[in-house]
Amino acid sequence: MTGVLVVTGASRGIGEATAVAGAARGYAVCVNYRSDAEKAEAVADRIASDGGKAIAVGADVSRERDVLELFKTVDEAFGPVTALVNNAGMVPGRYRADEIPYEDMSVVLLTNVAGVMLCCREALKRMLPKYGGGGGAIVNVSSMSATLGASHYWVHYGASKGAIDAYTIGLAKEVAGDGVRVNAVRPGLIDTEMTARSGQPGRVAKLAGRQPMGRAATPEEVASNILFLLSDEASYVAGANMNVAGAL
Ligand code: NAP
Repeated sequence: MTGVLVVTGASRGIGEATAVAGAARGYAVCVNYRSDAEKAEAVADRIASDGGKAIAVGADVSRERDVLELFKTVDEAFGPVTALVNNAGMVPGRYRADEIPYEDMSVVLLTNVAGVMLCCREALKRMLPKYGGGGGAIVNVSSMSATLGASHYWVHYGASKGAIDAYTIGLAKEVAGDGVRVNAVRPGLIDTEMTARSGQPGRVAKLAGRQPMGRAATPEEVASNILFLLSDEASYVAGANMNVAGAL
């Protein structure tokens, strides 16, 4: 076994592709989801039928109690986590900055920022030598919106991802000497259900031709870079925010 991998938000999209690629590399995988148990179970079943190890675990990463339970469940099923991918994220409705409801600001910050910090905290309690851990690797899924700003519709989302970039750099410096590498990827336009679910069906098709490469990326093209950052091939990479954005 390569190690124990927790992928948050793995019932579909980039998280699903990461869970499947991680299992193919020999990780025992926790397929986390918030609401879609059926899809998450299907991902875990597919991994198992391909000869891998996986469990689907429901937990809303924005809730502390759920996150504590998530990591405990993983401890019991596979042992302590050695690799964490903070992928769960969401974009609430589309608004200009003067119209964003407080509820949307709260949910995006709690999910995309506090959720990442909570999962990192619980993973570090299993990875750091001071708790008896043997190190590990963490990849946070940011977004190109952290640098581009997502103005006119998603500044709250862009701000949440900017926070992740800063957190990744700070945390990486804090734990690099303890054998824990922390990095981030910044996806550009990826062909998933995320934007359709936030009320913009057809966005990917509309914008694909305007990308520098003339297309959107597949979730697998993000997952392969996440797996690289988790692996020993990236043993001297820490505190990096890697664009996976086709020159966007
Ligand atoms: P997606 O297809 O919408 O999938 C999101 C996943 O996150 C689902 O499995 C969903 O589970 C889960 N999730 C949402 N809120 C959660 C919560 N509070 N707790 C636990 N799980 C939660 O999204 P995606 O496009 O693959 O995006 C994955 C990541 O990439 C996100 O962080 C996103 O911000 C980032 N990203 C995406 C793009 C893009 O173009 N798609 C670009 C840049 C960055 P349920 O369905 O069970 O709720």
